[in-house]
Amino acid sequence: MAVARFWREIPSRYNLIGVKCLNCNKVIFPPRSICPYCRRTGKLEPYKLSRRGKILSYTVVYSAAEGFEDQVPYVLAIVELEDGPRITAQVTDCDPSEVRIGDEVEVVFRKMREEGEDGVIYYGYKVRRVL
Ligand SMILES: [Zn+2]
Repeated sequence: MAVARFWREIPSRYNLIGVKCLNCNKVIFPPRSICPYCRRTGKLEPYKLSRRGKILSYTVVYSAAEGFEDQVPYVLAIVELEDGPRITAQVTDCDPSEVRIGDEVEVVFRKMREEGEDGVIYYGYKVRRVL
């Protein structure tokens, strides 16, 4: 990938970018081209979401998909972001027994996996409890 393009893409890789509907003011993540609330098009603009939210529910995962065995047990949570959207994310940097519903969390970006011979590294978001 060309260097210029790489830097241009950083904002969307390392921020939570959704869209805001200018008709009903709802924030939508991930971005869509049609507002799911009022079904209008053409009035959606990019919106940078707050990284803060709280845990609505969670589950402790003891059996992982192939390639992720070294990560179990881990906590998978449904998080409601301050701006409204809900995301499902792994809770990182925690003891699974300490996680509680209502815990404040922040979104962090972490390496998810390294791929093949071209060495492409994939990043994704996880959440971390704010103590
Ligand atoms: Zn709308």
